[in-house]
Amino acid sequence: MNKTPRVNINLDKIKENARILKNRCDKKGIEITGVVKCGAGDLRITKALVAGGIKSLGDSRIKNIIKMREAGFENEIVLLRLPNLTELKDVVKYADISLNSELITLESLGREAVKQGKVHKVIIMVDVGDLREGVLYKDYLDLMDKALQIKGVKVVGIGTNVGCYGGVLPTYQNTSLLLELKEETLKKFNYNLEVISGGNTATTILLDNDQLPKGINNLRVGEGIIQGTDITHQREIKFLNNNNITLIAEIIELKKKPSVPIGEIGHDAFGNKPKFEDKGIRERAILAIGRQDVKVSGLRPFLKGVKIIGASSDHLLCDVTEVETELQIGSEIEFQLNYGAMLRAMTSSYVNKYYISSL
Ligand SMILES: *Cc1c(COP(=O)(O)O)cnc(C)c1O
Repeated sequence: MNKTPRVNINLDKIKENARILKNRCDKKGIEITGVVKCGAGDLRITKALVAGGIKSLGDSRIKNIIKMREAGFENEIVLLRLPNLTELKDVVKYADISLNSELITLESLGREAVKQGKVHKVIIMVDVGDLREGVLYKDYLDLMDKALQIKGVKVVGIGTNVGCYGGVLPTYQNTSLLLELKEETLKKFNYNLEVISGGNTATTILLDNDQLPKGINNLRVGEGIIQGTDITHQREIKFLNNNNITLIAEIIELKKKPSVPIGEIGHDAFGNKPKFEDKGIRERAILAIGRQDVKVSGLRPFLKGVKIIGASSDHLLCDVTEVETELQIGSEIEFQLNYGAMLRAMTSSYVNKYYISSL
């Protein structure tokens, strides 16, 4: 038996997703940057993406990028989160491209690149409304004007990101803003931006609906490839494999207990005052996994009849009264993971990783 708690990672299905998505994008002249951060920069997942034909890789953490380089990946690697001033040395050394929106950072990057005898490529992020990173439309030309003059830095493109903080949905209109800015950059500075990076997994819906503006030639896709889902639109992507990463936890206690705690109710371990509905005596299972390891609200059990009723740091409580199969101590329960739950499970050092692969 493989140890629990664990994530089962199906590398074959992830690789196939990479290939399917890449083929669709190739046809429209769109390059995919395969984003591995939702798999915590896992090297075997990264390898599966590359085996599926992905050439450009992306991650939000420089630590993961260094890990990839040390493992021998020679692909183009893009740093997705705006760099910290304190990590620029590593950014220039290990990443080929970084996403940026601040002049001070760009200038420092330039100085560091000159020092290392390199030219560091950057993509300037434009905020089209989600209000996470990016220069606002009105400030764009000013920033671009200055960025184009920095020694050691080459502006290769512009990009945008929606669907992450503000939950703003990608549309033909907000994505087209990038193309307007490309035109203006050409007119004003006689400078051609090669990469127009339209967005993340959420933006692939425009591709499927034939709504992606012509001229967008890059998408940065993680969740779609790795899990076959698009949390922003709450959808499973039909032509991709889903549930490629699942979570397995084990039953450590199985008892009939009342549904309402006995005694005066204070606050739980997380400071909330819990409320209970009296459903009489119920069959309850405690699973050896908790909030330290996973985002409990993002778990969905595959087995019919299992109902998550609560969790503490190390314990997950389930009502299993309605389960039709025989459960016992040591039984494994498998869960579907949404984006947040997957992220947390993949980064928890307590969760084992088990790979399903013919690679
Ligand atoms: C995380 C991230 C992505 C990829 O997001 P997915 O939803 O996993 O496809 C793309 N771009 C940026 C800037 C990101 O931070």
